[in-house]
Amino acid sequence: MKAPVDLHSPVAIHRIIRDAAGAVNRARKDDPTTLQEISDSTDGDPFRVLIATVLSHRTKDPVTALASSRLFARFPNVKSLATANTRTVARLIKPVGFHNTKARTVRKISRILLAKYGGKVPENMEQLLELPSVGRKTANCVFVYGFKTPAIPVDTHVHRIFNRIGVVETKTPEDTEKELTRLANRKDWLPLNEVFVRFGQLVCRPIGPHCADCPLNDRCKYYNVTRLLGSRFSDWESQSSILVSLHRMSCDRGYRCGRDQPGRNTCQVARRKDTSRGRSNHTFSSPSIQ
Ligand code: SF4
Repeated sequence: MKAPVDLHSPVAIHRIIRDAAGAVNRARKDDPTTLQEISDSTDGDPFRVLIATVLSHRTKDPVTALASSRLFARFPNVKSLATANTRTVARLIKPVGFHNTKARTVRKISRILLAKYGGKVPENMEQLLELPSVGRKTANCVFVYGFKTPAIPVDTHVHRIFNRIGVVETKTPEDTEKELTRLANRKDWLPLNEVFVRFGQLVCRPIGPHCADCPLNDRCKYYNVTRLLGSRFSDWESQSSILVSLHRMSCDRGYRCGRDQPGRNTCQVARRKDTSRGRSNHTFSSPSIQ
């Protein structure tokens, strides 16, 4: 029998990143995330990375990419964006979510950068956090994709995947960041976000992860619990309580999102548990295990 892997050592985390990167490269070689694309095309301009990250909040990657390229084609730098007309900005970034609010925000950020930092983005966490709409994830994205300094931006993908595997057991992305910066070797911080955003889009997807083909399934807690579920538990009550636990491991926002509460129809697992209670022919959301 194989000895259990210690998932919390820097070496184990390095291997997890390496294997996930391999899977991403095999699945799609030339498709970087929007932030990586912006970073590559602007030689890592922290200003563009900052603005694109603000636009990306609650917005899909392709929409952010289009909106960013339209915006930067018209307003290429901090000076031009600071004096831009808010309506014009909103029109350019539409259909990004909350485009009117974001138009005001990116203009405000540009004005603050001009007034306080001579038009430069500060390479300092506290100063970045003072900017409107900038939280730790955005600030860390600016470090990684703009300044190329080690940091761990934790978005829903990073948070979900590291909880699924069992490297961390956290409720919020902020806690995940704390744990990962404590556990992972500093030299692994820089590629981590890029690898796991793509891994989360291609392999370890929020619903229906491709576990059978995943190179991490030999050490993944979610996969092992799901296999146990498939083989050992025949009665619905046992299955359903494990499903709720599984959902907690895979939920994008941890326990606080409320989606693990039966009856909340935004949660596929909980909904199926709720509506299938007592029925023998229920189905449930499980990864594609072999
Ligand atoms: S085995 Fe499944 S749940 Fe685990 S990391 Fe891979 S795809 Fe995600």
